[in-house]
Amino acid sequence: MNLYDRLITASDRPCFLLEDGGQITYAQLAEGAGRLAALLISKGVVPGDRVAVQTEKTPQAVMLYLATLKAGAVFLPLNTAYTASEVEYFLTDAEPRVFVQDAVALAAEAAAHAPLATPVPRADDDLASIIYTSGTTGRSKGAMLTHGALYANATALHEAWGFTPADVLLHALPIFHVHGLFVALHCAFLSGAPMVWLARYEDALVLAGLARSTVMMGVPTFYTRLLSNPGFTRTAAAHMRLFICGSAPLLESTFAEFEQRTGQRILERYGMSEAVIITTNPLDGERIAGSVGYPLPGVDLRIGGPEPTGVIEIKGPSVFSGYWRMPDKTAEDFTADGYFMTGDVGRQDADGRVWISGRAKDLIICGGYNVYPKEIELILDELEGVTESAVIGLPHPDFGEAVAAVVIGSGDEAAMIATARQKLAAFKAPKRIFFVDELPRNAMGKVQKNLLRQQYAGTFS
Ligand code: ATP
Ligand code: MG
Repeated sequence: MNLYDRLITASDRPCFLLEDGGQITYAQLAEGAGRLAALLISKGVVPGDRVAVQTEKTPQAVMLYLATLKAGAVFLPLNTAYTASEVEYFLTDAEPRVFVQDAVALAAEAAAHAPLATPVPRADDDLASIIYTSGTTGRSKGAMLTHGALYANATALHEAWGFTPADVLLHALPIFHVHGLFVALHCAFLSGAPMVWLARYEDALVLAGLARSTVMMGVPTFYTRLLSNPGFTRTAAAHMRLFICGSAPLLESTFAEFEQRTGQRILERYGMSEAVIITTNPLDGERIAGSVGYPLPGVDLRIGGPEPTGVIEIKGPSVFSGYWRMPDKTAEDFTADGYFMTGDVGRQDADGRVWISGRAKDLIICGGYNVYPKEIELILDELEGVTESAVIGLPHPDFGEAVAAVVIGSGDEAAMIATARQKLAAFKAPKRIFFVDELPRNAMGKVQKNLLRQQYAGTFS
């Protein structure tokens, strides 16, 4: 069945609660999507065609997503920060039938079309979307997600996080990644719940939104920004039943400070473009700082290799069908028995909880020994004067790679290295610590270690 049919019930319930006080109902959402679907078809879009979209976060952009599904086409959102030459790469790679840069104007044009009555039939294994990965570790790859995969993940999350029609979702995420697009929207749609719709994260708007919402989904930087605001108090959070976090590791200090401030525990989950959400901390039951929780029902998760810590491998209904036009890369990333090798390194404890220690590509090999950056980051983060740290391997003439740290904060480099050496084997202790005001991050708050490696590449040579 077309995912559209499974997600959307045209009702008079509000869907978007807008910044200007206005609202858009589910019936209006469905009508807008129907007209846009008719418009896409009139422009020659046929099932399987890509519809590429780089547009502001508006209700019309969401209508366009749903219209694409309804027309049987494949939705391809692009980060609004991408420059023309970056966009060129994606358009050449994906060859979309249409490329939309202004969803509002397109919706106005669609007003002349009668809404498409019924969705174009689609099977579970038909493509619904191509999501390009964030490009944190290299060139972005297009992860192909089917109608069935997206529906399976949506229902699992809806259940796991206890969504009901009484919920109100605070939506301040961008909608060009799985987080804001599928995770957030689908949970709201399946409940017929309204969303406090913010074009972007802004302290004052988020604070005001919390008073009338019940669930927020955010990246770690949302939470650090909220905590740096004195207006964010226990009372300010009292209307909320759930704060969900993901897309990048949540610092234990943020988790702890959040609990102290609000009395609530952030629920951290782990996901990626290639599988949407993979693990989550429990709704009922203990949420633990530093762990991304348990595999979702239906997800088969194991650690590759002989050691307790290794690459996380997964199989399950939401796993993607391969990288767009990269059959070799796709084949490389699946095991012979059909598990996707995520590229994230972690372990699973006796309780089944998953702990991520970083990306395989960030693993440092120093004099033949494996060093996991996370282990060192946890120690540096405890030091006075350090807010956050990013540990990287840099080329070294003797060791191949040597450990270095870039930290937000200030302090005495030699003294910090000495303290780290008391807690860590000599080969793991950083040989240099650089102090900065900010770490380079992408739109989802992920620290871009490849940029740090480039910047400090010459340190030991
Ligand atoms: P690329 O694959 O192009 O290098 P990317 O992996 O950053 O980019 P995404 O698919 O947007 O692209 O991000 C998924 C990654 O985000 C995961 O593989 C994982 O490394 C990280 N991630 C997501 N949630 C968490 C979390 N809760 N804790 C730690 N890491 C997380
Ligand atoms: Mg990735």
